Amino acid sequence: VPCGCARPGRNIRFATGIHPHQAGEWAGRVEEASAAVRRALASCGGVAVGEIGLDYHYDFSPRDVQQAVFAAQVRLARELGLPVIIHTREATPDTFRVLRDVGAGQVRGVFHCFTGDSAMAAEAVALGFHVSFAGIVTFPRATSLREAAAAVPADRLLAETDAPYLAPVPWRGRRNEPAFVTRVYETLAEVRGEPATVRAQIGANFEALFGGPRNGPPV
Ligand SMILES: [Zn+2]
Repeated sequence: VPCGCARPGRNIRFATGIHPHQAGEWAGRVEEASAAVRRALASCGGVAVGEIGLDYHYDFSPRDVQQAVFAAQVRLARELGLPVIIHTREATPDTFRVLRDVGAGQVRGVFHCFTGDSAMAAEAVALGFHVSFAGIVTFPRATSLREAAAAVPADRLLAETDAPYLAPVPWRGRRNEPAFVTRVYETLAEVRGEPATVRAQIGANFEALFGGPRNGPPV
């Protein structure tokens, strides 16, 4: 029975996906993995498939299994017309390869907790994706990340908490809270020179991406 938590007008929406850290549990059962995600999405009206992707930093799952489970979920998102939420760490070329080969220009989504540079952000944007920044963008040494944040087109920019991790300055190192995302907004507004519009723009971008099944080639 659908629980209704993701009905239009509610303030909570959710995504379901198999994270690369857990991909190993589905080794040799990729079709089952995809079916499990499909069932979970249907039961509560999930608005996106994610987090999915590749994590070669921790390598908690074998890389070939991560790639197979990731690809299967991109295929599912394409079929369902849902956006994807991408987790990628030290796996940029393989992440883009899967999105290109399997998404084939038909899947949109967001690079969550983006930590790349301007070139990577540009590649994500060219692929039709949004780019989301978390508390790291406030860290003093994150100069190249702020450069990327300044360069992302206004209609592709998102912000997030990643709570309980990655609390922004001045709460760095403490447990992150959703309310702290205001500091991420402030930093984005500052580096982009858009103090008056950045909040409304990010809200509109969120609705454009997660407001309903509107996948397709970027417009
Ligand atoms: Zn993640």
